[in-house]
Amino acid sequence: MLRKTNIFSNGMASQAFNILVRNSLTYKKTYDLLKKSQWWSAYQLEEYQLEQLAKLLDHAYTNVPYYTRVFDERGLKPKDIQELKDLQQLPFLTRDMVRANFNDLCAKNYSPNQFQHVTTGGSSGTPLELYLERGVTDAKEWAFMKTQWDRVGYRFRDKCAIFRGYKVPVQDNTFWKSQLFGRWMLFSSYDINNQNTPDYVKKLKEYNPKFIQAYPSSISLLAMNMNEMNIQNAVNPKAILCGSENLFPTQRKVLEDTFNTRVYSWYGLTEKVVLAGECEVSNNYHIFPEYGITELIDENGKVISSGTGEIVGTGFNNYAMPLIRYKMGDIGVLSTKKCECGREYPLLERVEGRSQDFVVTKDGAKITLTALIFGQHFNAFSNIKELQLVQEEKGELVFNIVKTEKFNADDEKEISCKIKSISHNQIDVFFNYVDSIPKTKRGKHRFLIQMVKAE
Ligand SMILES: [Zn+2]
Repeated sequence: MLRKTNIFSNGMASQAFNILVRNSLTYKKTYDLLKKSQWWSAYQLEEYQLEQLAKLLDHAYTNVPYYTRVFDERGLKPKDIQELKDLQQLPFLTRDMVRANFNDLCAKNYSPNQFQHVTTGGSSGTPLELYLERGVTDAKEWAFMKTQWDRVGYRFRDKCAIFRGYKVPVQDNTFWKSQLFGRWMLFSSYDINNQNTPDYVKKLKEYNPKFIQAYPSSISLLAMNMNEMNIQNAVNPKAILCGSENLFPTQRKVLEDTFNTRVYSWYGLTEKVVLAGECEVSNNYHIFPEYGITELIDENGKVISSGTGEIVGTGFNNYAMPLIRYKMGDIGVLSTKKCECGREYPLLERVEGRSQDFVVTKDGAKITLTALIFGQHFNAFSNIKELQLVQEEKGELVFNIVKTEKFNADDEKEISCKIKSISHNQIDVFFNYVDSIPKTKRGKHRFLIQMVKAE
């Protein structure tokens, strides 16, 4: 699910490129707009969206063969889309459809060097290749990210400790390397264990970062180890910036307790169709209307105005390969509340992971991870450092667990009982205790390994 962003890819070349785009005019224009627009009224935001949508649809219809066909087949012209709800006349775009229509989704009026190739993480399912608009999509992305991080006081010159799936060549207990002239310290996500934790802590203290940027799985593992060793107040960053993976409530708690700071989380995708993040005063994800149009749909594809649904996004920031009504497969919970911060942005109470993630019961029914795991509270999870679910057989679910010292028989019992109860005794639970859980190629944590095909 929360797979994302090439902007943090490894390597000096891309870092240099990032600095360039950050300083570009596009960055500044977008950042200046967002400074004002975040306080616009709902009406102003909608007017802006309609203007952007009209521009995008005109471009797509004229220059992108796939969309010329989509409009023509329906007897539509871009001018027929006058209101946001008119967008519902256009079909959804799935990952499979992107693969099948790859060339026809590329804008014909763009030259080859304007296409920036990226690949999604594919932490579940096959990775998807696509193009962004070189120098534009990333610059805008940075402006949006900076606007979000401004809410917790982030400055580009601030020193950051980075725990984002990096593999650092390890030598003499050095599990880190300096980058951007010391402004970033990249810590290896692959060597965090009890034995190395004191070295990590020592380096963190010495480096004394203002912020920690992290995948939740990496930094919470370190925090759990620190807790076990009674290491507290080692460093006191202004905030921990968490993205690219689901942040579980137990992870947030352990991070806030261990580092005595605010955890700031956001939701975005490599496909750049939706971006949402927390604000100064709330943990709800504030969806940027300036970034694109975000819809939530029920299982029949109908747009809903509150509650749980699949997130569908139309991004404004990529004209090289426009994605309109793109179904990324993530499930979110849309709130009807307004936030106290005063922004009129729509809010997601939470993002719950991929709709495709399910467990198969003995009788062949599918239960989503949302229903089985994310929708209920497990006390046991605060005694688990890392957790991965594996299903090899129908009706069986293996919990691979890296446990803390506190984990005990009651925790096993709680997990078994809750899974049995919600599945009506259709899932047997098995426990497998391990020292560590392998990461994906990009250093992320994969929550479910599903080897049973649904019928
Ligand atoms: Zn708010």
